Amino acid sequence: MIKKSIQLLFVLTAIGLLSACSDEKLPVVHLQGDTMGTTYNVKYVVNKNQQKVEGLQTTIDNRLQQVNKLMSTYDPESELSRFNQSRYTAPFNASEETRSVVAEALRINKLSEGALDVTVGPLVNLWGFGPTKRPEKVPTDSQIAEVRDYVGSEKLRITQSGLQKTHPQVYVDLSTIAKGYGVDKIAAILELQNIHDYLVEIGGEMRVKGQRGDGSGWLIAVEKPLSSGRAVQKVLSVGTNAVATSGDYRNYYEQDGVRYSHLIDPRSGKPIDHNLVAVTVVASSSMTADGLATALNVMGWDAAKKLAEQENLAVLLIRHHNDEFEEYISTAFDETVEIKN
Ligand code: ADP
Ligand code: MG
Repeated sequence: MIKKSIQLLFVLTAIGLLSACSDEKLPVVHLQGDTMGTTYNVKYVVNKNQQKVEGLQTTIDNRLQQVNKLMSTYDPESELSRFNQSRYTAPFNASEETRSVVAEALRINKLSEGALDVTVGPLVNLWGFGPTKRPEKVPTDSQIAEVRDYVGSEKLRITQSGLQKTHPQVYVDLSTIAKGYGVDKIAAILELQNIHDYLVEIGGEMRVKGQRGDGSGWLIAVEKPLSSGRAVQKVLSVGTNAVATSGDYRNYYEQDGVRYSHLIDPRSGKPIDHNLVAVTVVASSSMTADGLATALNVMGWDAAKKLAEQENLAVLLIRHHNDEFEEYISTAFDETVEIKN
């Protein structure tokens, strides 16, 4: 019996916003909407020599719909869904946009020695975290082995004008970096409109630039990794950067007293099972930060630390150790981020 089902509770998943308190504020426009099975928030400062941009929300909504039309696995007619449904191993025509996101996923796959793997979907489903029903039983080793025949990023290739699978059943799910990609595309729209003071967020993935209306920098709160209740672990000022988090403390199920994570280690075919509870990554691209956060989470404390130092990644790790939360701040994080508390 499954005692606890997956909880997807929050608008701003692992990160919440703190608002400023100052007297002299320039007006801040706040746009909100739904996308990618979650919500988005955009805040931007209207400067003295600038008007509120008319039609901006429509432009953003249209752009996000465009991305979904290409990469959503919830839309059976999206480009990616058609690729997934195809049982041919010949090259499949795909847009430059989808290919660029797949390319970043494959780059992070290599960097993380296989920890982030966008072909892991069939295993996710088998463990009961996909769109299909949760399993009544933990899958057997032979069920896992069967599915692993068509899981693995080496079975997915980017060709000159498309994508190619080397096994007919390869299934690609970009949801682990798509929110970040959406954030980057919204930021690009704002830049085109000459907006340079903003915060963009989709489902907890964030990117900020410039200042808030009162002239101070944007502050981002990283939540304490608690399974219930909300509390702030750290308040960060990240300059002009994206911030992503990956944490498993709310998204899991429990069976016979064992807790199963929604993240699968593609190298074992099983949910991750270690004491690293939250990963925060700061990077210039939200897509990269999003993918790296999940990758490092799958890797675990020691391997994540090592990769962060080796690749100069700005990373904050939190693990549960001796009944306490222990933090690790990478050298690059220390150099990039100002910790406010
Ligand atoms: P988190 O914020 O905890 O990193 P995300 O929402 O970014 O989680 O992505 C989690 C989803 O990614 C899972 O629900 C699953 O569909 C998929 N997934 C699970 N394991 C992996 C993995 N090793 N690599 C890529 N995607 C994964
Ligand atoms: Mg992620």
